[in-house]
Amino acid sequence: MATIPQPAKKSYFFDKGYRDLGNTIKGAWARNTNSIKKYASNLGGLGDHGLPMKLFLGLVNILAMIAVVVCGSAITAIITFINIVVLLVFMAIVYLGFTIIWIVDRLYLVRKKIFTACHECKEKSLIPTYICPKCGAKHTNLIPGVYGILKRTCNCGEKLPTAFFNGRKNLEAECPNCGHRLTDRESRPICIPIVGGRSVGKTAFITAFSKEFIESIAPAKGFDIEFYNDKKEDIYKEITQDYLSGSTRMTDRPQDVNVASSVSFSFFVKHPKFSPERLVHVYDIAGEVFTDNNENEVQKQYEYCQGIVLIIDPFAIPSIRYKYEELLAPEDIAGIGKADINEIINSFLNKLREVTGLSDNKMATVPLAVVISKIDSAGLEQDIGSMAVNKLMKTDPEKFVDFFDTQDYLCRKFLKENNMESFLNNISIQFKNNRFFACSAIGHTRDKGQYKPEGVLPPMEWLFRNADPKMGQLWHDNTFSKKTISVEEN
Ligand SMILES: [Zn+2]
Ligand SMILES: [Zn+2]
Repeated sequence: MATIPQPAKKSYFFDKGYRDLGNTIKGAWARNTNSIKKYASNLGGLGDHGLPMKLFLGLVNILAMIAVVVCGSAITAIITFINIVVLLVFMAIVYLGFTIIWIVDRLYLVRKKIFTACHECKEKSLIPTYICPKCGAKHTNLIPGVYGILKRTCNCGEKLPTAFFNGRKNLEAECPNCGHRLTDRESRPICIPIVGGRSVGKTAFITAFSKEFIESIAPAKGFDIEFYNDKKEDIYKEITQDYLSGSTRMTDRPQDVNVASSVSFSFFVKHPKFSPERLVHVYDIAGEVFTDNNENEVQKQYEYCQGIVLIIDPFAIPSIRYKYEELLAPEDIAGIGKADINEIINSFLNKLREVTGLSDNKMATVPLAVVISKIDSAGLEQDIGSMAVNKLMKTDPEKFVDFFDTQDYLCRKFLKENNMESFLNNISIQFKNNRFFACSAIGHTRDKGQYKPEGVLPPMEWLFRNADPKMGQLWHDNTFSKKTISVEEN
């Protein structure tokens, strides 16, 4: 519990109580010693008296000294003992009090899966640094403890709540790691990084997902959306603009090494059934992160994220590009991701290991949605899009029952036929819970009018459902069975 010194006044029994007890005991024993000294000095001052008187007074003083040593010490010892017991009892009561409230608070945070994922530096913390509204002092550990059970008194005199149920989350807070202002409000974060090489369509995917989720899914499911802060609202304005004009942006990689090269788009999702509200962080990670070997930045969100979207540009696969190049528009050829997919996946897996410090076993628990993008181009829809899925389900209705199981099958088959077997093996070895999807974020060649996304929502719905069953229950547009249809059989 609280071991870091806080800018607040400690509870009496853990601070002044000690000192008061110490002083009382010291005082009692000092009086005791003083009396003994007094009788001892009396013995030295008997010179004027006659011998019988000397003997008598000497005896009296010695008896008095013995009485003080025996009885006085006994009484002082008893008083000291009672004092200590009383203090200990009160300390125990206070200790018990804050321990109970601390446990209640901790259980609430852990059971409700509440934590803070800094939107800037991505560092995870259970409780952020709370700021005194009166003097601005930073309380790094605002929890029930020796500074107070339900409230603590800041050095400035302001009383601050120390638990989830009496208003702590309404205080201003900042990230304990980087000091950026937070507006988390003790909500439950759902963190999904979107990864992939340069130009694979990550930003377009986020644009299409955000717009569709916020403007179609949210109103239909009764979700109330609130942007994290003004900066995220500005991101949404850009998203809307891109969506309407059909343009795409490159995720800038800041030159400043101290600035994160992944940008989060963050918004709260509220619903009467959500307690606490959800906080969605979708991370757009610059493609260079996966291709530059000198990339030093640690992508801390991998440590705690509840799902990952890996986007692959099918036209970056040599045999597919070779087959379809003549069907592609010139601007689409220019926009093909250049990096080798196997290199990207290796670099991504290395990053993941580095950040999480996890063994391959542990990594396997994060759900991974592999999304083949740009399927509107060159007629790929007919290979892996909904057209192809529906056709196959009609042809072999016994084997292909579920839409997304069929799409997963078709995507894996498609990659296998295009010499991506080692990539497929890598994915299935590293991620136990993986699923393949196909999508088109823009829906057509870039810069030719408003987005017409297809297949962008299902991968996110699947990840959200894995991350948060309650949210999955409310956002229930598709079913995802768990049946993997083997590609080998054919
Ligand atoms: Zn931070
Ligand atoms: Zn204060």
